[in-house]
Amino acid sequence: MPEFQSRFKEIQRRVPIDEHNFSIQFDETKCKNCTLCRRTCAATQTVMDYYYLPSTNDMPICVHCGQCAAVCPFGAITEVSDVDKVKAAIADPSKVVMIQTAPAVRVGLGEAFGMDPGTFVEGKMVAALKKLGADYVFDTDFGADLTIMEEAMELLHRLQSEEIPIPQFTSCCPAWVEFLETYYPDLMPHLSSTKSPISILSAVMKTWFVKQQNLDPKDVVIVDVAPCTAKKAEIRRPELNASAAYWNQEDLRDTDISITTRELAEWIKSEGIDFDQLEDDHFDKVFGESTGGGRIFGNSGGVMEAALRAAYYFFTGRKAPADFIPFEPVRGLEGVKKATVVFGHFVIHVAAISGLGNARKFLDELVAAGNFEDYSFIEVMACPGGCIGGGGQPKVKLPQVK
Ligand code: SF4
Repeated sequence: MPEFQSRFKEIQRRVPIDEHNFSIQFDETKCKNCTLCRRTCAATQTVMDYYYLPSTNDMPICVHCGQCAAVCPFGAITEVSDVDKVKAAIADPSKVVMIQTAPAVRVGLGEAFGMDPGTFVEGKMVAALKKLGADYVFDTDFGADLTIMEEAMELLHRLQSEEIPIPQFTSCCPAWVEFLETYYPDLMPHLSSTKSPISILSAVMKTWFVKQQNLDPKDVVIVDVAPCTAKKAEIRRPELNASAAYWNQEDLRDTDISITTRELAEWIKSEGIDFDQLEDDHFDKVFGESTGGGRIFGNSGGVMEAALRAAYYFFTGRKAPADFIPFEPVRGLEGVKKATVVFGHFVIHVAAISGLGNARKFLDELVAAGNFEDYSFIEVMACPGGCIGGGGQPKVKLPQVK
């Protein structure tokens, strides 16, 4: 075995893809040592080469972005499947199953059924979930609207107060949050305190909506469908348990199960549902309506644009103009774009970054140059291109490996 491959095999054995990893699983019998996963993790995401931090006692780090699973051509690395848990909840007559779907799912799911990339299949996706037995199907875009308002208010607060520092980092990507916690812990005060759209909506569903419907929260199972493998880890974070405090029941979780776009596609196929022929259906009301701001969350720069538009509105009382954010690429840095936005007395320099390798380069350069506060707002999405290229999206086009 060539030296590189044997080193890879050794590293692979130490990669935290074992029963403790809630997002990713590794089947050694299917691995052909092509090293695509390793190169994606190390070169594109700059995670694996940094695994062995002294602070972690030589324990390897995985931020659960799932890009290794997205590129593995042999099915050796896949997401941990949680579909059976959803099926069991649906089969249990005492359970009420509420499913929410993230913005990038409706533009990714069609690819798994041979449709052109980007085909908008919201109606068929909702119809499929209802056919599969969901009691309610809600739109994560509603949660994205709440995230936008929280992030915008926090940004205005940071701009006007010296209590918390600028730049503000977005916090809706769980793999980015884990990356920051692990590699740049000193920068944590810059991370927005806002929950991700899925986490916000699950909390509202498990508290307010469950009460409105006069349900027992123990009987309610909340599922998210996301383009994201990192959500499987995020939903287990101890702080994401607003419902436990609200209902004074320690064992409640806001989100019970997270599945990827790929898992949903496989589930639809395994039930013999003819996806192409489904009549369009609609999200259930209350959490089925949104402003559309959340819809752009799937693309890099979308979270920032939506939050800045909300901040403009809160501050001026007017809607922001269409060409409000003149993004331009940053020379020499792939996956990074920047813009300067002016409103009121604020001159706000912003940057939107996708891909963790790009984030590492950007942060290292900024910290080394010592001009960290030149930026007011920085969006980071862990996956190249944003959630649309998420680790749990259908595998049609492989991301480029440097
Ligand atoms: Fe998940 Fe999107 Fe972050 Fe990728 S970019 S880890 S899909 S939230």
